Formats: sequence, structure tokens, C-alpha cells
Amino acid sequence: MMSKIGVLAVQGAFIEHEHMLRSLGADTVEIREAKDLAGIDGIVLPGGESTVQGKLLRSLGMFEKIRDMIRSGLPALGTCAGLILLSQGAVNDPSEYLGTLPVKVRRNAYGRQSGSFETRGKLVGEPFTMTFIRAPYIESVGEGVHVLARVDGKIVAAQYGHQLGLAFHPELGTDPRVHEMFLSWCG
Ligand code: GLN
Repeated sequence: MMSKIGVLAVQGAFIEHEHMLRSLGADTVEIREAKDLAGIDGIVLPGGESTVQGKLLRSLGMFEKIRDMIRSGLPALGTCAGLILLSQGAVNDPSEYLGTLPVKVRRNAYGRQSGSFETRGKLVGEPFTMTFIRAPYIESVGEGVHVLARVDGKIVAAQYGHQLGLAFHPELGTDPRVHEMFLSWCG
């Protein structure tokens, strides 16, 4: 059976995730309201603006629902703002996020002007082109979190069980390995 992946589509860069997932044979559904969450095998939280996304999730009545589904085992992939949403909060922002991924992040960690760049890093030891757009990085990780990538010593990718949080944007490139890893958890 084809996996049905929910892509949060309230704000931000969700189309690119859909294209990548579909190119790998998954079915996608845009999550715009709580009823769209029914029957999904995994969820993608895209880049965009984490404060806006968090507010929209609350006002649309999806915040607790998504949090509970991930806690109960729904695989989740969060990129950039999506990583912030999964996190236990940012050291430089008082907002409360889902907190299912036990990491603390720093928002807009690379400065506002020169905050966008591409670099050839290593993801789980393998070369990977990483695109950063006003990205956060991970300041600290809790127990059981696996660090998958660092750039200049800062953590930019982490895995905790069935959750994957990335500071960069694998959906903007052509390298499918991140989405393949995520889909392998989605049944
Ligand atoms: N700067 C955004 C935030 O803090 C994240 C940027 C992105 O998702 N590309 O929410």
C-alpha cells in the first residue's frame, strides 16, 4: 500500500515536499484543517515562519491533535520552521512549540542578512548539499536524540525515534535520501 503523507499546508514551503514525496511514490494530502489529519501515515512540517505556523495550528484546532499523533508514533519530518515547531522551544524566543522532539533550537541563528547559504555537509557521514534559509540550528539535544549532521560544529539535523528535524531544506534539492529515510518509517 502506498503511504499517505500529510504535508502541513497552512503556511510556508510545502509544495516542494509534496513533489519530492510523490516522486518517491508516496501519496500526499495537504493538511489545512483538523479533519485532513485522518488516516495519514506520516506528517511533514515544512519551512516558513514558525511563529505564524504555531499560531495557525492553535487557531485551527490542530496543535494538540498533531502533538498527540506524533507522541503516539506518527512519523514526522520537520524542516527549518518545521524543526522549530517540533522542538521544545527556542533559546531566543518564548513561544511554546509541540515539544515532541527533545531539542532546543536557536531561531534565525545565522543572522538576518547573510542568513541564507548552501553548503556541502555530511549527513550520517555521507556528503549532502544543504540549503539554509534564515535557518535555526539545534543548541542542545535531550537523551535519546541522534545527531545526524553538524555544520561548523553546530547541530543541523537530529533524529529521535520516528522524528527527523533538519535546519536545512532537503526538499529544495534533488537528493531524495532524507525523504526516503522518512518514508521508510511511514509503513
Ligand atoms: N526563520 C524562520 C523561523 O524562525 C525559519 C525559516 C525557514 O523555515 N526557512 O521560523
